[in-house]
Amino acid sequence: PRQGTAGRAQSIAPPGVRHIIAVASGKGGVGKSTTAANLAMALVARGKRVGVFDADIYGPSMPRMFGLAGQRPMVADDRILPLDGPGLKVMSIGFMMNEEDPVVWRGPMVMGALEQMLRDVEWGELDVMVVDMPPGTGDTQLTMSQRVPLAGAVIVSTPQDIALLDARKGLNMFRRVDVPVFGIVENMSYYVCPNCGHREEVFAHGGAEAAASEMGCPFLGAIPLDIAIRRNADEGTPIVAAEPDSAHAQAYLAIADAVL
Ligand code: ADP
Repeated sequence: PRQGTAGRAQSIAPPGVRHIIAVASGKGGVGKSTTAANLAMALVARGKRVGVFDADIYGPSMPRMFGLAGQRPMVADDRILPLDGPGLKVMSIGFMMNEEDPVVWRGPMVMGALEQMLRDVEWGELDVMVVDMPPGTGDTQLTMSQRVPLAGAVIVSTPQDIALLDARKGLNMFRRVDVPVFGIVENMSYYVCPNCGHREEVFAHGGAEAAASEMGCPFLGAIPLDIAIRRNADEGTPIVAAEPDSAHAQAYLAIADAVL
């Protein structure tokens, strides 16, 4: 794995892929992968040919999100074939290792693995590739944003101030490398009690919308903290596919419409 040390590094663009959209977050655990999986399914629902590229090397979750955990990709003529998820193609480092094994690689090896997955995977013709980025704003994220021709990025944040501070860093990172930011999604925005309907602003809802307007970028919507979102993700069918008529699915479809 080599990296350009100065100036503009050579871009790695899988041929046949029209738009590459990054889903990013300033820190882990905010629901970036859940959002990426549901955004991808929403794009499928809009009739797009979609691929999901799991670039979260240290915590790949796309195999589980799409019910593909434990599967291995096939190789044909030195090309790696992505796996078939529900209406879309999926590639993840998680397909090459056991789920319990930690990835104990340094940055350059991570970049090498990402580059190989972009180059050697036979994605075919895709309208959109959704990239689940690693959390944070480190070396890997920066290199990915510089070398992959991204159409734009969606930033996922929880409402807490601290998470937002991280989200701001994420947004600034994309701006610095001239990647358009489609907007911010506020995840785990509020909670509606299924028994009494009371709405609780668990993490002080609304922070992301305020930060978005302050930073001059669109607000793409608020997704509540809801057990159905977690359950469907854990069971391998993102809620957009499992409950397409739900309000949650509509919220993800609105995000898809904003990035198309
Ligand atoms: P990240 O990719 O940012 O690390 P994940 O998407 O893996 O985060 O989400 C972390 C955990 O939170 C997962 O168990 C996921 O199912 C759950 N989760 C994410 N978003 C929601 C939500 N809106 N409601 C309920 N659970 C959620």
